[in-house]
This record gives sequence, C-alpha cells and structure tokens, in this order.
Amino acid sequence: KMSDPVYALATPLGRSAVAIIRVSGSFLPEELVGALAIKNESRGVFIRRLSLGSFSDSCLVLNFPSPGSYTGEHLIEIHTHGSPAIIAELFSFLETMGVREAARGEFSKRAFLNGKVDLSAAESVMAGVFAESSAELAALEEFRSGALGGKVKKLSKKIESLLVEVESQLDFSDEEDVALISVSDVSSKLSLLAKSAQSLIKNYAPLRKDSLKKRVVLSGEPNVGKSSLFNALLEEKVAIVSETPGTTRDVVRKSLFLSGIEVTVEDTAGIREIKYSQVEAEGIEMAKEAASSADLCVEVYEDPQKLTKLNSSSLVVLNKVDLLSGLGDVCNVVAVSAKTGEGLGKLRHEILKRVQTPVKQSLVSERIYIKLGSVCALLECGAIGSDFFESTAQKLRDSLEELESIYGVFDNEVVLDQIFNNFCIGK
Ligand code: GDP
Repeated sequence: KMSDPVYALATPLGRSAVAIIRVSGSFLPEELVGALAIKNESRGVFIRRLSLGSFSDSCLVLNFPSPGSYTGEHLIEIHTHGSPAIIAELFSFLETMGVREAARGEFSKRAFLNGKVDLSAAESVMAGVFAESSAELAALEEFRSGALGGKVKKLSKKIESLLVEVESQLDFSDEEDVALISVSDVSSKLSLLAKSAQSLIKNYAPLRKDSLKKRVVLSGEPNVGKSSLFNALLEEKVAIVSETPGTTRDVVRKSLFLSGIEVTVEDTAGIREIKYSQVEAEGIEMAKEAASSADLCVEVYEDPQKLTKLNSSSLVVLNKVDLLSGLGDVCNVVAVSAKTGEGLGKLRHEILKRVQTPVKQSLVSERIYIKLGSVCALLECGAIGSDFFESTAQKLRDSLEELESIYGVFDNEVVLDQIFNNFCIGK
C-alpha cells in the first residue's frame, strides 16, 4: 500500500550535529500531528520540544502539507540533535503510532507515482548522491540538469512527426491520387533519425558504480617508511610503524579523498629477498599482487643511492629526507619526510595528477543508456518488404515507447521496484 505513513532517516547513521527524519503519508497519525503541534499549521518551519518518554529534545519541524511536498503526500521533516539514542527513541515512537520504516527509494517512488518527478529526474538525483568525485559530477551535469531530457524530447518530436506522415500515408493508401510521402522520402528521413539517435548516444556512457575509485599501492623494501607514509597521507594512525623490518604483512587499506576523487591507499609488506617466516612470504606475495593490479604504484625508497639507475613507471618517492643533507635535485622523484610532513602536499598532488583520468563522455544511468541504444537499433535497421509503411510505423511507435519509458510513461511495478531499490534509504 503506497500511501500508509512511512519514516526514514535522511542523514547518515551515526553521531552528528543534526539528524533528519522524514515522515510521509497520505495521512499522518493524529498522535504525531498532536505531539508536533502542527494540526492546523501550513507549510513552514516550527521549533518544537518533542517529548520522547523519559526525555525530550528540541527539534525543528518542517511541515509540507499535501500536495506541496517532495512525495506529493503530507510530509514532515523532523530535525533532531544527532544522537543515535534520540534517533532510536524517535523511531520507536513512530513505530508505536503505526508509522513503518520506508523501503529503499520509497519516498522517490511515491513522488514518481504522484506525478511529482519523472523517472529520469528521480534517477539523476540519485546519481548525484552516489557520485564519487567532482569529475563524475561534471560528467553527470547534462543528466542532472535536464539537458539530456531536452535532447531526448527533441528526438521524440522528430520521430512523432515522421510517424504522423507515415500513418497518414497508411490511412490514405487506398486513394490512388493521394501520394503523401514516397518510400525513398521515408527511408531518408528514417536514416536521418537514426543519425540523430547515434549522435545522441555517442556522447554518453553508462554510469557504473566504482567507475572512478582509484587504488594506490605503497611498495618498497622493509623499513623505508611505507607505513609511516601511509599514516601521514591519511592523517591518521592506521598502520603499525616499527623499527623492526617486516612488520606489515597484510595489505592495510583506507580511503581518502583528493579533490573529490576517492583514492584507496594500500600499505603492503616490504619486499625483500630473505623472508623470515611463511607469513611474511605470503605478505610479500600479496604486496606484489596489489602493486601489479593497482591504478598507481608508489615506490618508496630511503636510500638516494638506489634512485640513480631507476627506470620506473611508478611514482618514485624518497622518504626520510629529514635525515639527509645536501640532497641535490633528484629528477622525477618526490622527496618527502613522513616524520616532518615535508613534501606530503607535493606527493598528494602527484598522486592526484596520475590517477585522474579525464572523463570524456557524459554519464547517464545504465537503464537510460540501454533505452537509447535500443532506439538506435530500431531506427538503424530500415524497413523492408511490401508493408514498408506499416513496418516503418511500427518501428517509430516502438522507438517512441522506448523514449517515453525513460521518463516512466508506463506502469510496471516490477520495473519500478528494480529502479527504486537502487536508491538509498530515506530518498
Ligand atoms: P615500513 O616498514 O616501510 O612500513 O616502514 P615504517 O613506516 O614502519 O618505518 C620504519 C622506521 O622508519 C620507523 O622507525 C619510522 O619511525 C622510521 N621513519 C619512517 N619515516 C620516517 C621519516 O620520514 N623520517 C625519519 N627520520 N624516520 C622515519
């Protein structure tokens, strides 16, 4: 039942300054409306002290009476202080009043079913939420701004007008003197349409999760300071730093954001010829495997002597420069000190420079990309046979249907659930 009241946390779970809980329904429980004192209130923001059993919290209540809300239903947002205990108590308060937890994407699904957003708009909002970098957001700009929608509608209009011509030809085919449009005219218009569809899809690529996440592996001999560098890059003590060589055995990984690009940095076992244990040997194997499959390998050295005859495609780093004096300019090497922090900014910059791949195409949801592809295929294969006009009309109708389904002009529950299940809770 799509109109019963549902709730969801719209902010990430955990401790935060503020937590936002959304409630939506075609009706809201009397008890809730009473507790928030919004019975006769119109759209607006209210400060309320909400009593939650043995304690109370001062909340901000955003009231959106139907239909002027995201879902089109009565919707309220309760902004509480971001304590997990307050959130848990509020959830059970809502549950006792018969408000159930919303399914993934249920708010957006309701918004779609109530005609508030079309499917492509709902998907583009979600794509923005999931975007992992500023480059990805830039690539999503056409999709998110609605520019793609405009282009798709333009293509639909062109298909429609050819369909009108072809259909009137079919209607008047019995009347011999009415020659509205010739076979060759239709063929050339059809191939123009195919070209438009091709040039549209050519500029897009399907958005896939993890497309831009990068893996950077720190490798080098034991004790050169990989773990220290790892901690320094992440500004956090994650890996164990020790004077004893061979301490790191497992691959230790953690993500950091460099200019909005998510980079997973991995600290690995030091690679050396003599292995002191089976565990270290396994660690070295894992380190080699990690380095070979990474987007970027950062080779760490502490001895400047070893840099002279290097010919590496990796990013070469000389660590512990605080211990060196009179180090001349070493070409293609980033000199750093994990201890003092010297050169770390340059290192971050070099890492970013090397993992950043320019996104050439615009991104669009995978579903829409597939739809555009099938429209191309429909328009490309020209009509054949005696019923030329009839089969062309069918192709045009099918193409239009595909394009319309981008916006959701269909009512297939299964498809809708597939789409909205990819959304996050609270959206
Ligand atoms: P890993 O085996 O390559 O991971 O090296 P570690 O990070 O465990 O460091 C080995 C030793 O070098 C430790 O005693 C660190 O304190 C020391 N070390 C690491 N980086 C620096 C640095 O930049 N300067 C100095 N002076 N010592 C460092």
